[in-house]
Amino acid sequence: MTSIDIEEFAIIRINEYEYGTKRESVYLVIREFDKIAMGEAPRSPKRSLEEDTVTKVKRQKVVPFSKITSISELMPHTSGITVHVLVISRTGIVNGKFSLTVCDQSGNGGAVFRDLVPGCSCYITGARLQCVSKYRFLDMRDTAIITICEPGDYLEMVYSYTPLDDICGKASVDILCVVVDGGELVATEVGGSSTSRRSLEVVGRDGYIVSVTFWGQRAIDLTVAMGDILAIGDVLPKVFHAQYTLTCTDTSCVGQNLDNAESNALQQWWTTQSHDKTDYRRVMAISSLRTLLDTEIPLDESYYSAIAGYITIVEQGKITYNACSSCNRQLTEYAGQWLCNNCGVACSSPSLQYVLRVRVDDGHYNANMKVFGKAAVTLLGVSADDWIHLSEDDHSALFESVADHHYHITCMAHAVMNQDIVDAEYTIISVTIVDTITQTPS
Ligand SMILES: [Zn+2]
Repeated sequence: MTSIDIEEFAIIRINEYEYGTKRESVYLVIREFDKIAMGEAPRSPKRSLEEDTVTKVKRQKVVPFSKITSISELMPHTSGITVHVLVISRTGIVNGKFSLTVCDQSGNGGAVFRDLVPGCSCYITGARLQCVSKYRFLDMRDTAIITICEPGDYLEMVYSYTPLDDICGKASVDILCVVVDGGELVATEVGGSSTSRRSLEVVGRDGYIVSVTFWGQRAIDLTVAMGDILAIGDVLPKVFHAQYTLTCTDTSCVGQNLDNAESNALQQWWTTQSHDKTDYRRVMAISSLRTLLDTEIPLDESYYSAIAGYITIVEQGKITYNACSSCNRQLTEYAGQWLCNNCGVACSSPSLQYVLRVRVDDGHYNANMKVFGKAAVTLLGVSADDWIHLSEDDHSALFESVADHHYHITCMAHAVMNQDIVDAEYTIISVTIVDTITQTPS
């Protein structure tokens, strides 16, 4: 903790300290403390600090909370307001000050308070409401008194959970999920200023996985471990590369390992599940193949799309190639060496990779696409290294089996010049088996 966490006249509980003497003075080095409440300047110089502290705590307990204003009913420029709030996020500390976003029981957020700690519930009495453009601020100045709630008085966020598979097209959702990947804190630039970002991968009870991004101080403050249960309120679904992701804003409330029935049930469920994130299905923004085919793609740009459909192998000839170990491009054999034209060097340890030519059919339209890497392994069910040791009959059976499933397909389209005509090429990035067609014997 740093000195800026102690405000003037704050009441704190010292948990850990060292006692020392220097010349004639006695001093305490505070190692750890909790902030209990905000006090007031001592009025009488005669009273000792100890007596004053006792009085202050007493005074805080008798603050009349009968007249509590709902945030939704706050009028501009009124003073002496008491609100009962839950702190849900905090900004970074600049010049010793920071802002918090809070909400109250009416579910209204958007008022910003200073000098509070995130995660706490409290009464604020004597604040003044200020309005600056579309923002409303509760100005604490010297007049406001903060009283941390008694346990029975704590405000708790009420969540209304949406299954991850159901977040598509919604403006904002509450989710209950388990952390499968904690994500790194990444320094990034947004609109010319630098900030921090952390993207978690979380799994829902419905077996779907989604990435949740936190920004700024929230990203820095967040400490999560694998298997933590998060309740996240008011998080925004967005589409990136045809996949749904979630973004936390200032008004998103995060509850970590809450002790309630739903949270405990998810924790219990997680103990019996795979902890490998590749075993979970992504939430995709599925569109029709027609939309993809109708989309004009500018040269040098890529366009991502997700389709639900069937896949058949178009060319059943040679489907493997020797790939460069650093860029995965096809190698050419020259004078007993494998050369990569892309990297410009000889590759000493080429790997065997698939290139499949397939037709994707969504029931209305179809298109030819290429499939490489992991997506091809998912389709054929064996690695390229294993493939070359299988018999032709095995090859035929595996080619046929590709058509037995219904898939969710993510593909990337990019424009290429074909004899002065701009043409689109489609590459499948990933496939997920949605269900298997059961053949009725004829
Ligand atoms: Zn290469």
